[in-house]
Amino acid sequence: MAALSSTAETARREMSDFKGDLIGPEDSGYDDARAVYNGMIDRRPAVLVRAQDADDVAAAVRFAAAHGLPLAIRGGGHNGGGLGTVDDGLVIDLSELKGVEVDPEARTVRVAGGSTWGEVDTATNKHGLATPSGIISTTGVGGLTLGGGLGHLTRKAGLSIDNLLAAEMVLASGERVSVSADENPDLYWAIRGGGGNFGVVTEFTFRLHDVDTVIAGPTFWTLEDGADVLSVYRDFITGAPRELNGFFLYGSVPPGDPFPEELHLRQVSGVVWCYVGGEDEAAKAMAPLLDNVPEPLLHGVQPMPHPALQSAFDGVYPKGDQWYWRADFVKEIPDEAVEVHQRFGAEMPTWKSTMHMYPIDGAAQDPDSSDTAWSYRDANWGSVFAGVDPDPANVDLIRKWAVDYQEALHPYSAGGAYVNMMMDEGQERVRASYRDNYDRLARIKREYDPDNLFRVNQNIEPAGNGS
Ligand SMILES: Cc1cc2nc3c(=O)[nH]c(=O)nc-3n(C[C@H](O)[C@H](O)[C@H](O)COP(=O)(O)OP(=O)(O)OC[C@H]3O[C@@H](n4cnc5c(N)ncnc54)[C@H](O)[C@@H]3O)c2cc1C
Repeated sequence: MAALSSTAETARREMSDFKGDLIGPEDSGYDDARAVYNGMIDRRPAVLVRAQDADDVAAAVRFAAAHGLPLAIRGGGHNGGGLGTVDDGLVIDLSELKGVEVDPEARTVRVAGGSTWGEVDTATNKHGLATPSGIISTTGVGGLTLGGGLGHLTRKAGLSIDNLLAAEMVLASGERVSVSADENPDLYWAIRGGGGNFGVVTEFTFRLHDVDTVIAGPTFWTLEDGADVLSVYRDFITGAPRELNGFFLYGSVPPGDPFPEELHLRQVSGVVWCYVGGEDEAAKAMAPLLDNVPEPLLHGVQPMPHPALQSAFDGVYPKGDQWYWRADFVKEIPDEAVEVHQRFGAEMPTWKSTMHMYPIDGAAQDPDSSDTAWSYRDANWGSVFAGVDPDPANVDLIRKWAVDYQEALHPYSAGGAYVNMMMDEGQERVRASYRDNYDRLARIKREYDPDNLFRVNQNIEPAGNGS
């Protein structure tokens, strides 16, 4: 048998009640276990532990604290910057902490902390219900929710955090607490946007909405039509009914079904739609845009179960591609910004690279900026510039495009960015993203995690520790 690393050995000895696997560098499954979604991330933890329940999580948190080990929490492993893993530290891998329990009468769903959105959407759809999630089904509920959570239902039902009713957490002390509007309300405020800074969430409870079959799919225009479409889209979407969601994009038509072969890999501009309601109302809601822009190359909108929409891009973006992305919140898109978009949209470096502008108006603007940690309730879009390619040789190419694109548009942005779509931009950017909420977050952090044990994230430093 291979010799174990000393940290893994110590962990096995000291955490003798731990129910899941503990995996060190000498174990055969180590390379698989340490791989995260972004193929660009290559970190070597001292030990990965696969928690089976909240007691396992608490034991691992206590062990990391006692040994001064850097600690990373992994939900779905999708984080762009690889914040679900860490060099020379301990990774609490929640991927075996599964479970989705729908209560159709109460219209709520309880979700174990390591679940993915595909698991949640499939279970809730059986009851004709859904809660706002993201656009890829393999993304973790944990990371996506704690950072905010935007997707196809944002305009109708708000961010994921706006539907988070309660959570079960393990704090830096190893203590387990319940969190809701009535219990530990300061933590309840902080985890709705504050990321994994405050503890490990072992269970989420979300509110559910009547969402079953949606009228959804993409409309693609030529790349050259992008500026015209964006100019109409910017005014159209903010005035559209909340039942309609549509994010603008530059990208390429995927090379496979259901797209016609002559369009495969063609670079395009587009909108990906999701309408909650009937086909006729959907057509009526989209008409003010479609009637005022050039004829599309493809209008692929049709009825589909909500989980089908939510997994529609899964095949394009499997685990292991190289990703480099940047992001910004946006309030307005002046003509000069449209020009910049069109210039970089026409220079996409690889077919998987893309720019999305996700609307975050409608129901996402119902709360005030100070109601949850997510502070940009006055922004209309979260934009993301994602350089993506399977080939590691193209890393510099995709990084340069994403960075140049975001930097050219940043002067037209609202200042901060969605923390879940940032990578390695540093502390100032984190502060800018929480704006006036940062100081309150830092005080709550000091109370619950004064030593900043949970720092492998877009970090909120405990007040007094240099903030
Ligand atoms: C292909 C792709 C598509 C995406 N689409 C969307 C989208 O549509 N909408 C959207 O809002 N975002 C989207 N994102 C961004 C996504 O929200 C972030 O990458 C998020 O960090 C992923 O969560 P995860 O649990 O999979 O990540 P991980 O890498 O596992 O975790 C990231 C961080 O989240 C924290 N964390 C995770 N789980 C827990 C937990 N249970 N308790 C405490 N902390 C935890 C930790 O701090 C960790 O550092 C997408 C990302 C990718 C790669």
